[in-house]
Amino acid sequence: MRYRFRRRYGRRPQMLQWIWLLILFPCAFLLTQVYFSQGREETPVEPAPYTEQGTEEVTVSLLRTETGKIETMDLQTYVIGVVSAEMPVNFAEEALKAQAVIARTYALRKMADNSWAADPDHGDLCDDSGHCQAYYDTETLKETWGSDFNTKYQKISDAVTSTGNQILTYDGEIAYTYYCSTCGGKTASAKEVWGTDYPYLQSVACRWDKDASRYEETVEVALADLPWLLGDGTSPCIAVASGEKVSEVPEASGETDSGRVQSVTYAGLTFSAADFRRALGLNSTKFSLDPKGDMLKITTTGYGHGVGLCQYGANGMAEEGYTYEEILAYYYQGTELTNFQSQ
Ligand SMILES: [Zn+2]
Ligand SMILES: [Zn+2]
Repeated sequence: MRYRFRRRYGRRPQMLQWIWLLILFPCAFLLTQVYFSQGREETPVEPAPYTEQGTEEVTVSLLRTETGKIETMDLQTYVIGVVSAEMPVNFAEEALKAQAVIARTYALRKMADNSWAADPDHGDLCDDSGHCQAYYDTETLKETWGSDFNTKYQKISDAVTSTGNQILTYDGEIAYTYYCSTCGGKTASAKEVWGTDYPYLQSVACRWDKDASRYEETVEVALADLPWLLGDGTSPCIAVASGEKVSEVPEASGETDSGRVQSVTYAGLTFSAADFRRALGLNSTKFSLDPKGDMLKITTTGYGHGVGLCQYGANGMAEEGYTYEEILAYYYQGTELTNFQSQ
């Protein structure tokens, strides 16, 4: 009896241990599940890998303006070529990623609009930065980058692939992601430059582009050349003989919301600031005119039309620690970063 009692008594604590384990183990398991699922919710969702859906099926027909030939390529190759041509490779990674998203968005928008359907020689897009977007092929990049080609190409390629199929949309539609080199302290709204209002292409302050190479530039033009520069290419805009001394002085008038000139009056004629800029080859329409004797001193601020993302500003933001999502949300306010789904 003693023996049996001991055995029975001795087994009891062991059984209790097992019972506690049976209760504690499921509880611990449940607690860890709750803990880790909360952790997962706080982690931002990674963009879908490039090859999983959407844009890898998109083919771009690109007019190479130098040869006049159309080249066909997948969208990823096209975007790598655009980022390489449109943004310096030494820019910060987050700026390059922002550029990748807007280059992709711009192309898909133009393709959805079938913008150049009327011109059968144009293709979906061309490589003229003044018309569509600039594009460098790998041969050009090998020549430009020489022995640094592999590293630099990898850097651009990483920026493109890490943004997956991401594009910017507004109200469910692919956005018009215009961009410029250097806005000059404040971006311009699409309305003030082109007369068309886009809710997400409004003027925003930009304090990050002051170190840009073309933030401020001064050029001098002889007053005597102005009638010819502002003429139609064959004759001067006012009756004047070649080489004749001209005393007419142009005056800038009107100021847009972002501090750009609206128009220029000259000898009773009025030119839009954009036409004046084009005729004189100025960096931007943010300029001041300062006549000195026979010369006209023109100081410009910024480079480009000033609408949308400011590339040097984006790089400045990236260097301050902003992510590409934040950069895009700043320059294109109200837009959403979306994964493109091909129809
Ligand atoms: Zn084009
Ligand atoms: Zn800027």
